Amino acid sequence: MNSLFILENYGFLPFRRIEKGKVRVHLTLRFNTDFHIDSSSSSYGYNLITHAHTDHYGQNNMRNPNAIASKETASILEATTSREFSGSVFEVGENIEVDGLKMKTYPTEHIYGSSAFFIESESRVLVTGDVKNYSKLPKCDVLVTEATYGNPEDIFEEEIEKVVDEAKHSTYGVYPIGKAQRIAEILNRAGYYVSAEPKIHKICNSLGINVENGDEADVKLVSPRSLQNTWGRRYILTAQRFYWYPRIVVSDHLDYNGIVGMIEHCNPEHVIFYHGKPSNRLCEEIKCMGVGVTLLQQLERIRV
Ligand SMILES: [Zn+2]
Ligand SMILES: [Zn+2]
Repeated sequence: MNSLFILENYGFLPFRRIEKGKVRVHLTLRFNTDFHIDSSSSSYGYNLITHAHTDHYGQNNMRNPNAIASKETASILEATTSREFSGSVFEVGENIEVDGLKMKTYPTEHIYGSSAFFIESESRVLVTGDVKNYSKLPKCDVLVTEATYGNPEDIFEEEIEKVVDEAKHSTYGVYPIGKAQRIAEILNRAGYYVSAEPKIHKICNSLGINVENGDEADVKLVSPRSLQNTWGRRYILTAQRFYWYPRIVVSDHLDYNGIVGMIEHCNPEHVIFYHGKPSNRLCEEIKCMGVGVTLLQQLERIRV
């Protein structure tokens, strides 16, 4: 029902593909060709990868010649998997053409290399992936987006000053892909000598961000899981509330109000949430704006 409504009104079919007997993650958008969005690799069509976080399935597409990702996304994926990315790459902001379909790419500032895809055919369709800053995104008719912080309680302000002020002799628990690079740059700019555990070091290196490997440093970056093996001053850098360490609020996502702000900014007639946890309250608020909402679980499942 929802899939057909979109097809009739906007000229493309969003659906969940069943391939080799399994419902695949996220969704596929069918134009003349099928585009699988942040999904496991497929034997047909194209896989668009918005960014390098594991739950967006870039790692699963390293051997897929029909995978499409930004250069920086490919670099991070190569650093984390130690494999070569066999798909095609673009510079965020570039226009690309796939099987005759023109697309524009836009930065979402979620992590290094994160990119939105803007497809103009019968209607304007914007696929964002995860978003930190929507200000550069274009207006569209259908917005295919995330709601990681989709609950009204999810409202926060970042504490970047605290990141700098508390750094000396501290260990910071940061998510290795994305958060770690952003924090390393903030600390480098503030003049700190930053070291990082090997995984973070490798990803930073692949992007040309300077961090050291050793123990002699002002501040050390480790993954949240490794925080338990450290001692002294430690903080977890996140907007999530489920850790027991002292927290400094830093997030690579929009908060609840930010999601609503993005929808106002992009001004779509219809929103499809394909990632995260959109609450009933968020969906109601969007409908009150006169905008239609479809959730992933409301899409047709199609065997391919
Ligand atoms: Zn992400
Ligand atoms: Zn995500």
